[in-house]
Amino acid sequence: MTRSDGAHRLDDDDERWLTEAVALATSNVAEGGGPFGAVVVLDGVVIGTGQNRVTRDNDPTAHAEVQAIRAACRAIGGFSLDRATLYTSCEPCPLCLAACLWSRARRVVYAANRDDAARAGFDDSLFYDLFAADRGTWPMPVVGHRVPATSEPMDAWLARPTKVEY
Ligand SMILES: [Zn+2]
Repeated sequence: MTRSDGAHRLDDDDERWLTEAVALATSNVAEGGGPFGAVVVLDGVVIGTGQNRVTRDNDPTAHAEVQAIRAACRAIGGFSLDRATLYTSCEPCPLCLAACLWSRARRVVYAANRDDAARAGFDDSLFYDLFAADRGTWPMPVVGHRVPATSEPMDAWLARPTKVEY
């Protein structure tokens, strides 16, 4: 996914939105949440914010980036953020990085990195290492097994004349 539109460069606006994401992360700690915040910006306007709500909501997927993506998609009434930038206080974990990819975000910009997260006890790098390792070595077995109806959902999807592609 090579970009030629300057999406890899940073500017003053990036610093501003990153600072806002970091502020959300810091205030979340005071409110009993994890030290993570994110904002989604479209055409210079914040369309969604998120703070880590894992412990508050008992939701292990309620990471700041996921929360911000959900809020932004609600705001625009769509499931693609292909013109938006997601700013996050910390390098996205694999869950959030995948959520960003699914959202088709134009860019992702982060402040702290995975080493900063590890210092605070959030060792995302363990998951990155796991994804790079043979699945047979994972502590959590991930097992595939085909049942007679395995292909039916995909067949039904393929046969459906009117479907919303994503
Ligand atoms: Zn995450």
